[in-house]
Amino acid sequence: MSIESGLPAGFNPSAYDAIVVGAGYAGAVCARRLAEACNYKVAILERRNHIAGNAYDCYDEAGVLIHKYGPHIYHTYNDRVHEFLSRFTDWTPYQHKVLANINGTLMPVPFNHASLKLAFGDQKGERLYQKLVAEFGKDKKVRILELRQKNDPELHEVADYVYENVFLHYTMKQWGKTPDQIDPAVMGRVPVFIGDDDRYFPQAPHQGMPADSYTQLFERMLDHDLINVYLNVDARDVLQVSETKATVCGQPYGGEIIYTGALDELFGMDLGALPYRTVDMVFETLPVDQFQPVGTVNYTVSENFTRITEFKNMTGQKLPGKTTILREYSRTYLPGMGETPYYVINEPENIALYKRYRERVSGLLNFHVVGRLAEYRYYDMDGVVASALDLSDEIINQH
Ligand code: FAD
Ligand code: UDP
Repeated sequence: MSIESGLPAGFNPSAYDAIVVGAGYAGAVCARRLAEACNYKVAILERRNHIAGNAYDCYDEAGVLIHKYGPHIYHTYNDRVHEFLSRFTDWTPYQHKVLANINGTLMPVPFNHASLKLAFGDQKGERLYQKLVAEFGKDKKVRILELRQKNDPELHEVADYVYENVFLHYTMKQWGKTPDQIDPAVMGRVPVFIGDDDRYFPQAPHQGMPADSYTQLFERMLDHDLINVYLNVDARDVLQVSETKATVCGQPYGGEIIYTGALDELFGMDLGALPYRTVDMVFETLPVDQFQPVGTVNYTVSENFTRITEFKNMTGQKLPGKTTILREYSRTYLPGMGETPYYVINEPENIALYKRYRERVSGLLNFHVVGRLAEYRYYDMDGVVASALDLSDEIINQH
């Protein structure tokens, strides 16, 4: 592997069997598999000055390992994804726990048995819990919007409490909309949990943090003789795509193109910009061993940031006397301003617009789109890896 900044003079695309746009999970997984399985020579063009996409982590000035683009907790139900990534890293055991700060009281999220007792007192909380168990069963997940449908007055009281104190304000901050105005699948990511498990991803069989760092995981994944990475290169400067052909550096390109950026950007947003939410990430280093008891505390009723993450609590890094925290402020993404499009907004008109862009490239058999941006999907890391494994299977099978 080589990693260079900028494209060298005389860069010749036809010396490569595949050009990959983006060095995040989607691009890196495809590059590695095509190099290994097809002996393809692969050039990765990445416009940032680093690999690893939004999973990039690094040491800050205080020496704390931070996640530059927000907290990333690896978890998956997918054995194939886990086996693939485990080739490039060992894992430090970590079970993510989140507390909601509700008027100063810290309660587990997903809202569970312990949260009920903290919210309603021991006796009443226990009674409400038994009622939930009778209604839904023990160790069951229930979506808040489903709980709100129940007619029983006490269950209604629980639903109202959780809706108001856990979901409403947080969702307003994160999306600028109420929970019933957004995609139910997004709300369904964080159910009410009728049980005692206080982990954020209770049922994920594989969960942890890369033993060294996400960035080192990527360094190893990209460490292959046939892969060259070019940083600080915006693919749009060399790649032109129309409904009938793709050119790279002005020449028709016959190799495989794997595109993991936003599709609207590729066409100058001529049909309109795909909407996203962006997040202002505000880091602060404090002169204390530990700031909060868990990895993430969600501010569900107060403040104008959504959550505070303390990285040492997730990575297990030992560094006495200092710690770095991150506050996240979500807001509308402004297209064309160099901002990071973090979250897709999964609404029918946005999906319809996305499909119109996607339609344009559907006739190009060597042009492939994959990843959170290119597929306009709210993927976790494992979902992107699974999608990239599927795409590379297809290309390998046709090879
Ligand atoms: P990206 O990581 O965005 O990579 C795409 C790359 O393409 C970028 O590096 C970009 O610079 C580059 N690129 C785009 N356009 C061009 C161009 N024109 N030219 C050159 N390069 C280009 N997932 C989890 O599993 N667990 C978590 O805890 C978690 N937390 C998250 C927290 C936040 C705040 C966010 C936003 C996401 C989180 N995710 C989490 C999701 C995770 O970040 C993504 O699923 C994953 O990183 C997406 O990988 P990707 O390769 O599709 O996209
Ligand atoms: N959510 C909420 N309160 C919480 C946690 C989550 O309202 O304490 C809602 C919010 O709308 C959020 C969604 O559930 O966007 C999904 O939460 P998750 O933690 O999965 O979001 P991510 O980590 O992807 O930002």
